[in-house]
Amino acid sequence: MKRLLAFPLLAVLAIPVFGQGVGYTNTPQIRGQKWKVHDKDRPNPPTVTPGATFSNGAPAPSDAIVLFNGKDLSRWKSGNGDAKWKVENGYFEVAPKTGDIRTRDEFGDVQLHLEFATPSKVEGDSQGRGNSGVFFHDQFEIQVLDSHKNKTYADGQAGGLYGQWPPLVNAIRPPGEWNTYDIVFEAPQFDADGKLAKPAYVTAFLNGVCVHNRKELNGPTNHQATNPYKAYSGKGGIRLQDHGNPTRFRNIWTRAIGTYN
Ligand code: MG
Repeated sequence: MKRLLAFPLLAVLAIPVFGQGVGYTNTPQIRGQKWKVHDKDRPNPPTVTPGATFSNGAPAPSDAIVLFNGKDLSRWKSGNGDAKWKVENGYFEVAPKTGDIRTRDEFGDVQLHLEFATPSKVEGDSQGRGNSGVFFHDQFEIQVLDSHKNKTYADGQAGGLYGQWPPLVNAIRPPGEWNTYDIVFEAPQFDADGKLAKPAYVTAFLNGVCVHNRKELNGPTNHQATNPYKAYSGKGGIRLQDHGNPTRFRNIWTRAIGTYN
């Protein structure tokens, strides 16, 4: 009889804990931090109401690569084929279960402007509500989520460096409204032996509010896991996540980060 009872108890321990905090207790320690990955006890960031517009609708500078001009997904791909997400009215929308889409272009250090809207019809909760994400080099996710009055773990909030750093503040707009991301991603560098010479850093503004100030990533971002860097070229595409929610995107452009003379 006791053996039979053990199984339901284990099942309960393996799922996120809902209550005072939302998150996990059984995940690994984040390297260099006192918190566990998706720690249910990590305080959520304070909420900030952003100003009215900031870079909403920002026209691309003259040296930018325009990745989406409101018309087509020609600069994006899905797996080995064309991107299948829905394009309409100047934006595109995740077509759930068609998979992530990735830029055909590759970037090193890069400035990214992007706008997104979480679904106006609120469905699901925690990480199941308006979840998508912006991945640099297929490895480093800055979270897209409907974090508006939605309890979830701190390092999974919109603006979070997923599983590593919560945003400094929660500056998301309500469901259905357009948010702006202005991000500087510095790629990691590796020496000739493949050892990490410089980690990746992220500086990010969500709706004009600083959510990361050149924050160091300790490796690729992961769900319930923490993994070290693996040497690669330091170049890669930008990938948007199909997490099953019809999140919208528009006005996407990048610039290379120049060097000082
Ligand atoms: Mg995500």
